[in-house]
Amino acid sequence: MTSTLPASANGLSRETAPLLSQSISERIRARLRSAGVTFLANDNIADHILDGELEGLEREVADRVRDLLRALVIDIENDHNTEETAERVARMYLHEVFKGRYHQQPKIASFPNVKQLDEIYTVGPITVRSACSHHLVPIMGNCWIGIKPGSRVIGLSKFTRVADWVFSRPHIQEEAVMILADEIERLCEPQGLGIIVKAQHYCMKWRGVREPQTSMVNSVVRGDFRHDPSLKQEFFELVRQQEALLST
Ligand SMILES: [Zn+2]
Repeated sequence: MTSTLPASANGLSRETAPLLSQSISERIRARLRSAGVTFLANDNIADHILDGELEGLEREVADRVRDLLRALVIDIENDHNTEETAERVARMYLHEVFKGRYHQQPKIASFPNVKQLDEIYTVGPITVRSACSHHLVPIMGNCWIGIKPGSRVIGLSKFTRVADWVFSRPHIQEEAVMILADEIERLCEPQGLGIIVKAQHYCMKWRGVREPQTSMVNSVVRGDFRHDPSLKQEFFELVRQQEALLST
């Protein structure tokens, strides 16, 4: 509850009193603005959330979801099915489907490429789960990553972890692929990198045009994959073979 007493009367300094009347999200937003960083739907903001604030943010989100349910004229006080929906949705957003916004990147160790490997390899399919920024409904699909190693290497399973972290935010598919490419470049500085994502968008399946079979495929190629057409071709061929394996 917000105190109506003057700041000096309840023993708080003039600096801390306004802070306490702010919601946790307002506090985090103010911190992000003063740091001059963006907090778009697909940005990670974990560096700007202090210890203990995520729990408070979860309660605040639950309150707002409860307001949303009330605005939808759902009788949450008497409906046993939606009684705790607000808490479930808040938990799901902050710690599951959008965890890539609020949680730090999983620890991923990289190692020097001592054998100087420079043959390309691909990893996939990696399941990716996201939600569209426009309607917050699921995007589900597969991702393939091709690497021509550079100075450092990371374990195969680490690509799955970083893809899951990047995709677990509200996105548009084109930007998700670019952000994933940036993170992989940061982690292992490959000489060449290619990523393909093929996904189904529930905002086209479930609503809107309601087209159940349409999928979107997009790719990004960087470094040697961009400059060397034969290498790019090899990457797409390897992915095609991996995809063919799925149907055998
Ligand atoms: Zn949408």
